[in-house]
Amino acid sequence: MKIDVLGCSGGIGQGLKTTTFLVDDSLLLDAGTGLELLTMERMLKIRDVIITHAHIDHIIGLPLMLATIFDQHKEPLNIYALPEVIDALKQHIFNWTIWPDYTCLPEESPIIRLHKIKKGDKLSLQDKNIEVLPAQHPTPTVGYLISDANASFAFTGDSGINDELWPILNDRKPDLLIIDVSFTDEIDELARLSGHLTPSHLQEQLAQLNHDCKIMITHLKPGFEDTIMQQCHQLLPDKQIYRLHHNQIINLSSP
Ligand SMILES: [Zn+2]
Ligand SMILES: [Zn+2]
Repeated sequence: MKIDVLGCSGGIGQGLKTTTFLVDDSLLLDAGTGLELLTMERMLKIRDVIITHAHIDHIIGLPLMLATIFDQHKEPLNIYALPEVIDALKQHIFNWTIWPDYTCLPEESPIIRLHKIKKGDKLSLQDKNIEVLPAQHPTPTVGYLISDANASFAFTGDSGINDELWPILNDRKPDLLIIDVSFTDEIDELARLSGHLTPSHLQEQLAQLNHDCKIMITHLKPGFEDTIMQQCHQLLPDKQIYRLHHNQIINLSSP
């Protein structure tokens, strides 16, 4: 399985894009500003989009991409998200004020098909199994576990302390965990309020993971990336923890 890291920052700025992962060229996991790195040809190859939550850093690329590919796409794009996220997209984005309503354009065969999911669902998309994972965030949010015949990875979505997740991952044993650590330890209260982890929270959370896999940190606050990573390494010297980087291509196969 190939993961193109198009966006993995908690903000924007030169070289920084928000959460956007492209899996095997045709499955999009969140639609942040990272979508702008794709050529038209690559955008047209995307068949399914799975969305973690409605926060703008995870969806802003979607309306822009739909307008871009509108005249050239051949098949409707399938969008999978929680019912609350689908409602938010309809109400706040595709409402003819912020953006045209692509849920009914073109009239005879709309460019997107919306599919409602819920926590615990297991989807079969392309050659992959996708399990919808719990997440803890101030708005309805999920994570995803994506597996093919050879390998699997879990993405927490944006999430703070999430004790429900670890028994599931202990059972599924992914090869890679991509996890949100947005803030440094000094920003503890804001992290708790906004539903993100700090390095100390990560340490507490990983104490519940009894499966040893590679861990990659995402959604780091711009300007604090080095401090976040230093604190993670100090607190968890024995874990394989890496910072996720933009334009990184992860080729995942089981060890
Ligand atoms: Zn969020
Ligand atoms: Zn976010």
